[in-house]
Amino acid sequence: MRDPLLDIRPGDRWLIAVAHPDDETFGCGSVIALASVCGAEVTVVCATRGEAGEPVPGSADGADLGAVREDELRRAAERLGVRRVELLGYRDSGFDGDLPAGSLCAAPLDEVAGALGGLIAEIRPQVVLTLDGSDGHRDHLRVGAAARRALGDSAGPLLAEHCLPVSLLRRWLDEMRAVRPDTVYHSLDPAALGRDDADITDVLDTARVLDRREAAIAEHRSQVSPFDGLSPDLRRVFLTTDHLARVALTGRTR
Ligand SMILES: [Zn+2]
Repeated sequence: MRDPLLDIRPGDRWLIAVAHPDDETFGCGSVIALASVCGAEVTVVCATRGEAGEPVPGSADGADLGAVREDELRRAAERLGVRRVELLGYRDSGFDGDLPAGSLCAAPLDEVAGALGGLIAEIRPQVVLTLDGSDGHRDHLRVGAAARRALGDSAGPLLAEHCLPVSLLRRWLDEMRAVRPDTVYHSLDPAALGRDDADITDVLDTARVLDRREAAIAEHRSQVSPFDGLSPDLRRVFLTTDHLARVALTGRTR
């Protein structure tokens, strides 16, 4: 049987489930672009409008940050070759602290999974790609959990998580400490961050779509790119090498 992750063909359908505008680009943008240039019809479903993000000073003054970020998401998605963007309408839970009413993490998991499940039933994707949440953001963890719940034990699409391997994340943290000493990630325990390298099932070379990825990154003007200030070597690794972990779902015999 064809492996839809490694042998992407025209007409394939992919569903990308993320939490915030920019996850699709800063996270798995190169994989989306690769699927798209191979002819896949890619849908991005974004659970929130990212209104709890911290805008670049001056980038969203006086504006509704959620609206600004939704617009950035749609522009970036176009750059990546995405066919369709859907928003689930939850509020951004924020990185930590009390959960706002209506936020993604305040909603019952079954409800979020139900919303994703509706799209899965409609689109019938071969591949569902989500975040592994190993950067520590609770919304990223939540959307991944909802995707697993949505796919449950049915024989359905291949589910894969886009991962930040520990080895790569440590290099990123080391460089970020030097260039952005105030970043929120410094408050996290480095030992708890990142995905065990042994969990990675697929490493994709996405260098051929680097231009699309860069164009999408540039659309997220209100957000500080996590790649700003990195050394050219490490930046290139981040933007052209993608680490995925296939998820074995209960009841599946894949
Ligand atoms: Zn995010």
